[in-house]
Amino acid sequence: MSMNMEDNRDVLLEVKNLKKYFKVPNGYLHAVDDVSFTLERGKTLGIVGESGCGKSTTGRAILRLIEPTAGEVIFEGRDITTLNKSQMRDMRKDMQIIFQDPFSSLDPRQTVSQAIEEPLKINGIIKDKNERLERVMELMKTVGLAERLVNTYPHELDGGRRQRIGIARALAMNPKFIVCDEPVSALDVSIQAQILNLMKEIQEDLGLTYMFITHDLSVINHFADDIGVMYLGRMIEKAPTETLFENPMHPYTNALLSAIPVPSIHNRKERILLKGEVGSPVNPKPMCRFATRCPYATEQCFQEEPELIEVEKDHFVACHMCK
Ligand code: SF4
Repeated sequence: MSMNMEDNRDVLLEVKNLKKYFKVPNGYLHAVDDVSFTLERGKTLGIVGESGCGKSTTGRAILRLIEPTAGEVIFEGRDITTLNKSQMRDMRKDMQIIFQDPFSSLDPRQTVSQAIEEPLKINGIIKDKNERLERVMELMKTVGLAERLVNTYPHELDGGRRQRIGIARALAMNPKFIVCDEPVSALDVSIQAQILNLMKEIQEDLGLTYMFITHDLSVINHFADDIGVMYLGRMIEKAPTETLFENPMHPYTNALLSAIPVPSIHNRKERILLKGEVGSPVNPKPMCRFATRCPYATEQCFQEEPELIEVEKDHFVACHMCK
């Protein structure tokens, strides 16, 4: 069964066979290779994988911050890969991004107020200066930034407050969908939970849909409705969060889960240490991309690329062993 079978659900975003290849001296780097999934309105899809697996590139290609090589990105029934620049500018109001490093994504010369009002100004959303300031104050309240900080600069604030500015900027246009690209990875552990709670509250209040990209499964354990695991440009497992944690099927997902610290000694799984070299994403051969590290690899795994198939309701796995 294919991934695109979500008939009666309120699907906001459908990604079909998305590819992003980069030309490199010896061929093409397959950063995102034939990735498909659907995302229901108001839900969170977590995308998990190691650095270089293509998760951030997927997020950026969906927003067309980088142009996809192929595939469809259907947002509210419309394939946005066919839109011209001005149509895309309009569409971006609905589709925003929160970046990993709030410091480098903010202009150090802008005050909090200027940073938050910038998207409103650029897009001509609120032309009156006083009305814009009112909206800025409203957004600051939404993200828990005190009024007194309105004229401060990013370097005067801690990481958590800077990320709150990043969230306010993303919310400024009243979006429906936000790509959250490792939004808490650069923050102290003590602040991570505050920001995650804030994002959850905002999602519930505003009915937002999130694609939450992270290298750390434990961050989205209690946050995401569904989780997709990526490896070398491919989606190798996707399932509702509870299913993925209780019944992971792909050997790579098992290894990722075994790395999560569990407080109780009784629930602790033995850590699976992956051996072998990570394969190359440049001109990949038609084989399982995890085969070079997989303890269960057979001859078939080196000769045939496994497809993502539904092995139980809403649980998709790309592994010859799981058919
Ligand atoms: Fe391992 Fe083969 Fe499954 Fe790939 S297809 S994950 S190599 S068992």
